[in-house]
Amino acid sequence: MPTNPIQIYNSLSGKKELFEPLKPPKVNIYTCGVTVYDDCHIGHARSLYIFDVMRRYLEYKKYKVNFVRNITDIDDKIINRARQENKGEPLIETTKSVTDKYIQSYYKDLESLGIKKADFEPRATENIPEMVEYIKLLIDKGYAYVTNTGVYFSVRKFQNYGQLSHQSIDQMLTGVRKEADETKNDPLDFALWKLSKPDEPKWQSPWGEGRPGWHIECSVMSQKFLKTETLDIHAGGLDLVFPHHENEIAQAEALTGKPFAKYWIHHGLLTINGHKMSKSLGNFVTVSQFLEKYEVDILKLFFLTAHYKSSIDYTQEKIEIAKKNKEEIDRFFSQYLFGKKDKLSKEDKEAIDRIVENFNLVMSDDFNTPRALAEVFGAVNLGSNYVVQDKVSALNYLREKISDLLDILGISPEKEIDEKTKKQLEKLLKERQEARERKDYKRADQIREEIRNKGFVISDTGSSFSITSHRINER
Ligand SMILES: [Zn+2]
Repeated sequence: MPTNPIQIYNSLSGKKELFEPLKPPKVNIYTCGVTVYDDCHIGHARSLYIFDVMRRYLEYKKYKVNFVRNITDIDDKIINRARQENKGEPLIETTKSVTDKYIQSYYKDLESLGIKKADFEPRATENIPEMVEYIKLLIDKGYAYVTNTGVYFSVRKFQNYGQLSHQSIDQMLTGVRKEADETKNDPLDFALWKLSKPDEPKWQSPWGEGRPGWHIECSVMSQKFLKTETLDIHAGGLDLVFPHHENEIAQAEALTGKPFAKYWIHHGLLTINGHKMSKSLGNFVTVSQFLEKYEVDILKLFFLTAHYKSSIDYTQEKIEIAKKNKEEIDRFFSQYLFGKKDKLSKEDKEAIDRIVENFNLVMSDDFNTPRALAEVFGAVNLGSNYVVQDKVSALNYLREKISDLLDILGISPEKEIDEKTKKQLEKLLKERQEARERKDYKRADQIREEIRNKGFVISDTGSSFSITSHRINER
């Protein structure tokens, strides 16, 4: 296996850097997860999937990945949703049923997307005492102050504010919304703790009953569950750079005096037919809506066609292309050569190994999935040649290698023939061959029919037979 070094684009430095985790082979990754007030849409799916592929690739490269993805289960958006759905019962109850419902729906989506479970999936509401403790320390250090609406972080006290979004304080001032909260000393300051209204969910704190701000959740839960002050990788969408991630850095670094994360990875956003996805525009596609129509690998193949840093535009045309691509992969895996034992030649082995090596090279170059996908399809084409050329061992070796690569991409081709079926087919094919040799064409045709009834088509290729799933042929 080639041991090529991995390069990752780091938003913090604004350039590609050699990936050197703090304590290899361990890699600590935190990604900002969902806020559970609605069903996941395909934009969320892209985020979840991209980071899943990165994780799988790092694991394939023998890193020991510790992966934390949080769930924001207390937030203004959730409370607003609960107010909309409220039918007169206490708001706290509706809030609970909103979060329960969407956490379940999120887990269902994760499962149908085939996204690996995180090592920890902490919920904000289950880590409130740690957040209160963290805020206390920030106040003690002079980075935060208490008002009659909550506790705020004093942005101007933190020298390096703006290091991630590469903006000056004044530039950021024009970016923040001007709805001046009178109790803030500065419009840039942000809430660490918000006092709750009487009917809202609330937790005890030294500053009164309330709830944590969104940003503090991530600083606290990432460090707690990864058991480190400096993470290897912090990841999220480009829309989170400012202010969310900037604020996470400010809180964490103000407290520890150490870098919060070594590498910041941000993915581009998803649009639909050139527009931002929104319910009011009627172009909102949830994960389950997509999966009602298409199999999950089609969505993944679509995502892979864009580099994770780029934005991606969802169109029907692109989904149709992804569908054809999936069929091509399935077709490759539905073809088997039987009937002859040959040896894998040195040239064929080298050609296949080169594909694997190239796949590694492009994936190690900041996870270049469009080029990785091109390698996979190169391999699929090579496979069709092997079928025509009647190369049994080369086809089998290639099949094994492509399977490994697809595994990294989380794609599962339909494998039509299990070992038992394979044995049955081999037996039938041998019988058919013998029938043909004694010129018993009637029996040979009967066997062909028997095989067809099992769902497979025989093509005679040289001294062996290629078997293709009937169902796939008829697509
Ligand atoms: Zn976050």
